[in-house]
Amino acid sequence: MPIFDFVCSECDKEFEDLVLRPDEEVKCPTCGGRTRKRMSAFAAPGSGGHTAPAGGCGPGGG
Ligand SMILES: [Zn+2]
Repeated sequence: MPIFDFVCSECDKEFEDLVLRPDEEVKCPTCGGRTRKRMSAFAAPGSGGHTAPAGGCGPGGG
């Protein structure tokens, strides 16, 4: 049976659901939020964080 693994984007709830159509949207059974399919051997490139250069001149007396 076409059962896929899903993970909720709202509460990160992992569950399985029977999907008859490939373009069918599955709602989270817990919170009813949007979910995304879990792909096998999913390789994420990794998310990088940006850091802001905290700098600035102090209150200089003139
Ligand atoms: Zn959820």
